[in-house]
Amino acid sequence: MNGEPDEALPHVFVALGSNLGEREQHIKDACAEISALAGVGELRCSSVFETDPMGPQNQPDYLNAVCQFYYSGSARELLNELQTIEKAHGRVKTTHRWTARPLDLDILLFGDQQIDAPDLQIPHIGIAKRSFVIWPLLELQPDLSIPGLGAVVELKKQCQEFGIQKYKGFS
Ligand code: ADP
Ligand code: MG
Repeated sequence: MNGEPDEALPHVFVALGSNLGEREQHIKDACAEISALAGVGELRCSSVFETDPMGPQNQPDYLNAVCQFYYSGSARELLNELQTIEKAHGRVKTTHRWTARPLDLDILLFGDQQIDAPDLQIPHIGIAKRSFVIWPLLELQPDLSIPGLGAVVELKKQCQEFGIQKYKGFS
């Protein structure tokens, strides 16, 4: 890090998802790879959850987690780094959303920044309705608030409680 105290840097939350191949390994390795990026400090990872797929149902269940860390670069620099990690895990770009993938990395929150560009929206779209994002976010920071959306603990009340469970196989 640049000698700045971490607390002065944006606090970032990234969602990790995998439903192809060695799912646990993809999530575990991605956490380590993000932690090793230049500018990343004090990374913590949530528990892993096993969840029903969104969208097309003819695909395997997902493993999902969220990690949080301080970051000294920009949101766009981070997006580029995360896309490089996705590709290294065998991610092939398709034009369809919500298709099976070895690794999906989404920036959920980047400090209190709000970005609405064609290729980058922060807070991530759909964050409020997805149990597989809300549950791990609350585990990491129970008093978390999302710019424009409010307290995560309130958002959880509108999320479905089915189709998600803690994953027991993860060590
Ligand atoms: P999804 O995660 O919705 O299934 P993809 O992973 O295929 O979709 O990503 C499609 C595009 O979403 C990416 O090329 C990226 O530019 C864009 N995108 C927009 N906002 C974000 C964000 N906050 N984090 C990651 N990708 C994002
Ligand atoms: Mg994505």
